[in-house]
Amino acid sequence: MGSKTEQDLIADPILELIHPDSHQNVLARVKRGVEHGEVAGRVEERYVRIDGTSFDAEVQGKPIVLAGQAAVLATLRDITERKAAQEKLQLSARVFGHAREGIMVTDAQATIIDVNDAFTRITGYSREVVLGQNPRMLQSGRQNKAFYAAMWDALKEQGQWSGEVWNRRKNGEVFAELLAVSAVRDAQGQTLQYVALFSDITAIKAHQSQLEHIAHFDALTNLPNRVLLADRLQQAMAHAQRRQQLAVVYLDLDGFKPINDRHGHQTGDQVLITLAQRMKEALREGDTMCRMGGDEFVAVLIDLQDTQASVPLLGRLLAAAAEPVQVGELSLQVSASLGVTFYPQTQDIDADQLLRQADQAMYQAKVAGKNRYCVFDAAHDSSIRDHHESLERIRRALENHEFVLHYQPKVKMHTGQVVGAEALIRWQHPEKGLLAPATFLPVIEDHPLAVDVGEWVIDAALTQIEVWHAAGLDLPVSVNIDACQLQQGNFVARLQAILARHAQVNPAGLELEVLETSALADMAQVSQVIEDCARMGVRFALDDFGTGYSSLTYLKSLRVAMLKIDQSFVRDMLDDPDDLAILRGIIGLAAAFKREVIAEGVETVAHGTALLQLGCELAQGYGIARPMPPEQMPAWVTSWQPDAAWCELPWLGGVTPDADG
Ligand code: C2E
Ligand code: MG
Ligand code: MG
Repeated sequence: MGSKTEQDLIADPILELIHPDSHQNVLARVKRGVEHGEVAGRVEERYVRIDGTSFDAEVQGKPIVLAGQAAVLATLRDITERKAAQEKLQLSARVFGHAREGIMVTDAQATIIDVNDAFTRITGYSREVVLGQNPRMLQSGRQNKAFYAAMWDALKEQGQWSGEVWNRRKNGEVFAELLAVSAVRDAQGQTLQYVALFSDITAIKAHQSQLEHIAHFDALTNLPNRVLLADRLQQAMAHAQRRQQLAVVYLDLDGFKPINDRHGHQTGDQVLITLAQRMKEALREGDTMCRMGGDEFVAVLIDLQDTQASVPLLGRLLAAAAEPVQVGELSLQVSASLGVTFYPQTQDIDADQLLRQADQAMYQAKVAGKNRYCVFDAAHDSSIRDHHESLERIRRALENHEFVLHYQPKVKMHTGQVVGAEALIRWQHPEKGLLAPATFLPVIEDHPLAVDVGEWVIDAALTQIEVWHAAGLDLPVSVNIDACQLQQGNFVARLQAILARHAQVNPAGLELEVLETSALADMAQVSQVIEDCARMGVRFALDDFGTGYSSLTYLKSLRVAMLKIDQSFVRDMLDDPDDLAILRGIIGLAAAFKREVIAEGVETVAHGTALLQLGCELAQGYGIARPMPPEQMPAWVTSWQPDAAWCELPWLGGVTPDADG
C-alpha cells in the first residue's frame, strides 16, 4: 500500500459521499492521518446524501486497525439545525447591535436585562446604568396611570402593545418615541421576557405640530384661521346652554383697502398685524378671534349671561380697530363694521347659518355708516337681502347707464342766493325703481369699481354744468369723492384728464366733498391732493364735519375751502344743548381758520333761523329743497324764495371770508 496515493486510499463511493466543497479538507486530513498518524478532533464538513442533497456534518475521526491495517473510523452527525440556530443567533446579535431603533429586553418582572447601543444613544443612559432597573425610570410624567395600566393589560392579553409615549432622557429632556412592546412566551404561554423596540419621533412630532399650526392659524396675524374657527364655533355651540349664550361677530375693516393700495401691501400687512393683536387683546380669555382673510375677522364670544353682556366687548373691539396704527412715519387709521348674532336661537341653526347672519348684520352696519355694530334681526333679514345688490349687478348698471345724478341746491339763507348744488348719485333700477346710494355704494366700497363709479360721477357732473350753462344757468357743482378714489396714487392726473374732456368748464365750478373721516385716514396724502387740486382751481369741502374728531392741527394742514357740518348736529340743535354747543364750536373754528361753513340737513325754517343766529349763512336740506333731477333745477332756481323769517333777521354774521360773495 506504500506506493499508493491518498486518492487510492479512499474508495470511490466514499468520496462521492463528500460534498465537493469539503474534498480539499478531507483529503488533507486523511493525508495527515496516513503520513503522520495525526487524527483531527471534531471537524465540520459537508456531505452528500444518497439522494444528492447535501448537509453539514460534524465528523469525529478515530484511528483504528481494521483487518490488520491502519484505518480511520469516522462518525458523522447531521448538524444542519444546530448551524441554522447559530446563524440566527448571530444575526440577532448583529441586528440588536446595529439597529437604529432602541431595544430594551426585560425579564417577566419588567427588570431590564439588556439594551442596545441605540437605546443608549436615544435615552442617554448607558447599558451598565439601566441593567437591573425598571423601565419606569424613563417616564416623563406626561402619561397618567391609566395609560400604563392599559399598556400592561394589552401586553398580558394580546402579548403586544404599540403606541406613542413621551419619555425623559438622562439630560432631563422630554422626547417622543414610537414604541412597540412584545411579550416573549414559552410553549406553555408563560411570559419569559418583554422586548421593547422604539424610535425617537420627537423631530417628526415637532414637524407635525408645525404643519398643524399652518393648517389652523393665519400666517400673517397668527390668529386662528377659518378652519380652526369652524372647530371652535362647533365646540362653543355644543357648550352653549339656554342660560349661557354665545355671540358670533363678523368684523370687516372700513377703509383698509386704500391703505393697501396707497402704501403697499407691506404697510397694509403691518396694520393688519397690529389690529389683529389689539382686537384679540380686547376680548376675554376663552373668546376666539379669527382672521377669515383680507380685512375680515370673526370673533366668537362665549359664556354671555345675556345678549346685553356682549355690548362692552363690542365697544372694545370698535375702539381697538379705530385707534391709529403707527407704521414707520405713517399714522394710519381705519375703523370696523361689526355684525353680531347670538346663539342659541328659537330655531335650530348651524354654524354656517350663524356666520351668514353675522355677515349680513355686518353689511347692515356698513350701510348704516360704518364704525358701528348691528345685531342680526331675523325679521329684517329677507328685506335686507333684497336690498343687497351684487357687485356684478352694479358693474352692469354702470355699463348700462343706469346711474343718474340728482342735485340738491345749496343756498345763502338770508339773501336767497343759490350758491351751488351737490350731485348725489341714484340708481335708476329697471325693476326696483330709484335706489338711494346707501343700497349700493357700501357694496363697492374698497373695490376698484368704486373708482369707476366715482369717475363717472365727476364726468356726469361736468356734463351737467355744460348743459345748465347752455340753458343759461351757471351753478357750481359739488361731487362726493370716495376715500378709495382719493387715495389712488394718480387721482390728480385722472381728474385733470376728465377736466380736459370738458374744456369749456371752469374748474372753479367744481367742488369735491370728502368725508372728514377719510381725510383723516391719510392726512399727508390727502392734504397733498388738496394742494394740487387748489392749483387747478378745484376746491375741497370736508363732508360730515364733526364726526371725525379732527384736531386743530389737522384742520390747519388741510387746506379745504369749506366745512360741511354733519346733519346729525343740525337735526338735534333745537333740542340738544350739546349739539348746539358743537355747532357753535364748528362755526367758530371755521371763522378762526378762515374757512367757509355750510350746514346740511336743514329741514325746517326754525333750523335755518337758529343757524343764522349762530353765524352760519350757508345751508342745504329738505327745508330748502330735496335732491331733484337736473331738468328741474333751472326752474327751481328762478322760483325759489327764502322764508321771510330768514331775510328779516338782522344779519349777525360776517364771520365767513366770502360772506358777501
Ligand atoms: P352726503 O354727502 O352727506 O349727502 C347728504 C345726504 O343727506 C344726501 O343723502 C341727501 O339726500 C341727504 N339730505 C339732504 N338734506 C337732508 C335733510 O334735510 N334731511 C335729511 N334727513 N337728509 C338730507 P343721499 O343722497 O342718500 O346720500 C347719502 C350719502 O351717500 C351722501 O352723504 C354721500 O356721502 C354718499 N353719496 C351720494 N352720492 C355720492 C356719489 O356720487 N359718490 C360718493 N362717493 N358718495 C355719494
Ligand atoms: Mg356730500
Ligand atoms: Mg354729509
